[in-house]
Amino acid sequence: MNRREFLQTTAAVGAVICSGSLLLPQDALAVTNMADFWLKSRFLEARRADTGEKQLIRFYDQQYGYDPYGYRAACWLLRDAKDRNAMVSVDIGLLNLVYAIQEWARMSGRTNPLITVNSAYRTPRRNAVIEGAARHSLHIQGRAIDITMRGVDLRQIEAMAKYFKVGGVGIYRSFIHLDTGRVRSWRG
Ligand SMILES: [Zn+2]
Repeated sequence: MNRREFLQTTAAVGAVICSGSLLLPQDALAVTNMADFWLKSRFLEARRADTGEKQLIRFYDQQYGYDPYGYRAACWLLRDAKDRNAMVSVDIGLLNLVYAIQEWARMSGRTNPLITVNSAYRTPRRNAVIEGAARHSLHIQGRAIDITMRGVDLRQIEAMAKYFKVGGVGIYRSFIHLDTGRVRSWRG
């Protein structure tokens, strides 16, 4: 699945792309059958590091497609809890990317690869006071997320994210940054 396709929102696209044998970037996780990866319902299981709230969100239904309630739940979970719980419409491509990585981990046998969200949407006001944050950070557009995943080390997440070529992948000491901007990578 390439970047353009990833950012589109039709189910059929993914079904075609991922129907072959797959997907073994070095240092990532081994999965032998990804045939229905983009056909089935898409779940995110994540908790926020700051508030501790945890949710299992289905944002895409196998039969009916994108679920507006699930999508809204995802936007709420990824809100800026430190600035009046401000919400934004999170990039669906970002949700798909995070789903893809987590589902990949599930399918490779990781039990409960819970995602912890360190930071997702940030209001411009709050982004401006975060040390080291880029002024035009994609976090302020709902197009970036900083995560860790239980049982999956950052290098594995990095390898999987790079495989999909969706956008930026930045490794930091204690989390990985993923976004849907220009395809690039760095170490923070
Ligand atoms: Zn970030």
